[in-house]
Amino acid sequence: METGTQTGAEPVELNEPVQSGTGVLPSAVDVLVVGYGPVGAVIAVLLARHGVRVMVVDKATGIFMAPRAIALDNEALRILQLAGIAERDFDTVAIPYVRMWSPTLGQFGKVNSLGSLDGHPKLVTFYQPDLERCLRERLQTYDCAHIALGSELLAFTEERDHVLATLDVGRGRTHTVRARYLVGADGASSLVRQLIGQEFKGKTFAEDWLIVDARNVPRPIDHIEFICDHRRPIPHMVAPGGRERWEFMLRPGERREEMESDARVRELLAPWGDVDGMIIERKAVYRFHARTVDAFSKGRVFLAGDAAHITPPFVGQGLVAGLRDAANLCWKLAWVIQGRAGPRILETYDEERRPHAKAMIDLAKFMGKLVMPRNAAIAFITHGLMRLSRMVPRLRAQFEELEIKPRNAFRRGLFVKGRSATRLVRGAVLPQGWVRAPDGSTCLSDEALGQGLALIGFGRDLRASLDSATAAAFARAGGTVVHIAHRGQRLHPARQESWEDLDGVFMPGLVPVGWAAVVRPDRTIVHDGPVTDVSRIVRESLALLGTPVSVATPAVETALRIA
Ligand SMILES: Cc1cc2nc3c(=O)[nH]c(=O)nc-3n(C[C@H](O)[C@H](O)[C@H](O)COP(=O)(O)OP(=O)(O)OC[C@H]3O[C@@H](n4cnc5c(N)ncnc54)[C@H](O)[C@@H]3O)c2cc1C
Repeated sequence: METGTQTGAEPVELNEPVQSGTGVLPSAVDVLVVGYGPVGAVIAVLLARHGVRVMVVDKATGIFMAPRAIALDNEALRILQLAGIAERDFDTVAIPYVRMWSPTLGQFGKVNSLGSLDGHPKLVTFYQPDLERCLRERLQTYDCAHIALGSELLAFTEERDHVLATLDVGRGRTHTVRARYLVGADGASSLVRQLIGQEFKGKTFAEDWLIVDARNVPRPIDHIEFICDHRRPIPHMVAPGGRERWEFMLRPGERREEMESDARVRELLAPWGDVDGMIIERKAVYRFHARTVDAFSKGRVFLAGDAAHITPPFVGQGLVAGLRDAANLCWKLAWVIQGRAGPRILETYDEERRPHAKAMIDLAKFMGKLVMPRNAAIAFITHGLMRLSRMVPRLRAQFEELEIKPRNAFRRGLFVKGRSATRLVRGAVLPQGWVRAPDGSTCLSDEALGQGLALIGFGRDLRASLDSATAAAFARAGGTVVHIAHRGQRLHPARQESWEDLDGVFMPGLVPVGWAAVVRPDRTIVHDGPVTDVSRIVRESLALLGTPVSVATPAVETALRIA
């Protein structure tokens, strides 16, 4: 079936290399990623890290510079870590707290975001173009990655074992590329989404917002504040590079052109000091939406990022949700392409990601109601109740300690059903802590786990407990065996893959000594149990992937072990 628009542009024969703005385009790849925004970039980097031949295309020729995402949480930073991006690689400001302020009641709510979780600050602000630059530099280091800027997807057809995509590569030329899988990370107006017949569901917010980024602010703040004035709610926050951002809700009758005018922006910023001294970098009016698709995939085509879900930014989770998509999807694609897992695991992408993305959108809608009450009476009641609720410790923790944030734990998906007898949660992400290698070097524990599947022995060396057939099958499926020792425990002789748990995150925080767990490349816990059962735990995990011990295929035999 032919889908999408056709142009009269001159087609290029399949297999004829085509020169794009950034090099020769291949005619066949494993994965074609449409959209080189932040989500497409992370997807391309994660796939390339797994050795997948990936091509990412974008109709734009450069990084989009308008003001957009500004906040990232610890989960997002951990996914960027997975993509090889360290915190120091791009500029961030750690946010100690978020305060909610009412003109009549004063401060009525506060979120504590001081400190770190899973090895990263709980909340930072950042400069989106800086992060995108960093991701693009990273991708360019991989030979298996191709980048085609100024190249627009026009259409694709899905065949039995591949997708054929037609690109407009400029100067009236088209290029056809054959890919085993296609990922649409092509943003809120996604053509890929339309071509697979997925419409956005959910309501569009009636409110338009003016976003202003400025530098040289006379009285800078070090946190995020929501000024919840029903006449004009204003989220306001610090950002890297001496920047601050304001988001001004438009009132009925206010028009975009007028609000984006210099005079109007200066008037709105006046309460924050001498506007003449400020450098207004960017300003744009956005209409916020809250929408998701009914399915994140169809056949060989997957949706990720804003192409699959869009949310108002009140909890700063739009891009973060896209990064979760990337982490969830990329290793599954890589494992299927490289013959380490059966294609059925790809069905769990939608199953795992869609409910969580929707829960985050619901939270953003709830926050929207707090930020923008419709009138003075509703504002007084809502904010008064919020203030009162802080007197109840349980309710206070829900909000102040962010317990209200939906946990990234799957109800259904690619993990072995059942509850752990420990504090590990199957289908949830393994916590991260600092670990020390036998040579004394330290790192975050995800680095110790490597890029593949990990079998962790907590406080026990698993080599003696794992039968050899299972150990070999696990290695063929891209698995590594890791030993996490309690602090001070030493193996004799010392082994490179043995790590001390420096801050007790794992023992006694999570598990007792003598426990084992299988963890996916995206750090989701697949299975766990006592080390005496480790062979069964691994076999059941491999069966889930479609690579049981007894039926390892030649493709699996030759698969590389990535540690
Ligand atoms: C004002 C505002 C504030 C925000 N604040 C936050 C925040 O604090 N935290 C947060 O997590 N999120 C926030 N977000 C959301 C966040 O910015 C988006 O979720 C994120 O940028 C989406 O990234 P993406 O890669 O999915 O899509 P995009 O960045 O939109 O990238 C899509 C790319 O696809 C390309 N493309 C489209 N069609 C085609 C085609 N046919 N062929 C080739 N290329 C194509 C486009 O050129 C574009 O480069 C905010 C958004 C806004 C508007």
